[in-house]
Amino acid sequence: MNKITINQKEIKFYEEEGIVFSNKIFIEIQIDELHFKEMNAFEGGAIYFHELKKSAKKTGEYLIFTCICGIADDAGWDKINVVHSKNEIYWEFERNGSQKFKFDRIEYIEQVIKCEKLLNLSKFYLAIENVVFPE
Ligand SMILES: [Zn+2]
Repeated sequence: MNKITINQKEIKFYEEEGIVFSNKIFIEIQIDELHFKEMNAFEGGAIYFHELKKSAKKTGEYLIFTCICGIADDAGWDKINVVHSKNEIYWEFERNGSQKFKFDRIEYIEQVIKCEKLLNLSKFYLAIENVVFPE
């Protein structure tokens, strides 16, 4: 079982790929205490919260990670196969090899809800909002 932690981070100024983000919210995930940006499985990824939220509801394919510019194909991102069982949520995808993660279903849902509650959307916008799905 992998432990998932989902946080939101309000950023005053950040620049990547020539894109300037000011007063934006980035969603951050830690798996087994490791920040996703430090993991090969999520190389070149930025989190799209709308799909992460949907993935907590039911089995399906969700674009949880995309390029920081929003265009999934730009960083070779594809949807993640998310499978719900009674007590677990699984992620399966290909990125630097075959990746498989297994989370406690209740913990996953609670982390998504907790993160959503903390979003101060009246003051900040989500950094990743206009997303182009992979072709
Ligand atoms: Zn990009």
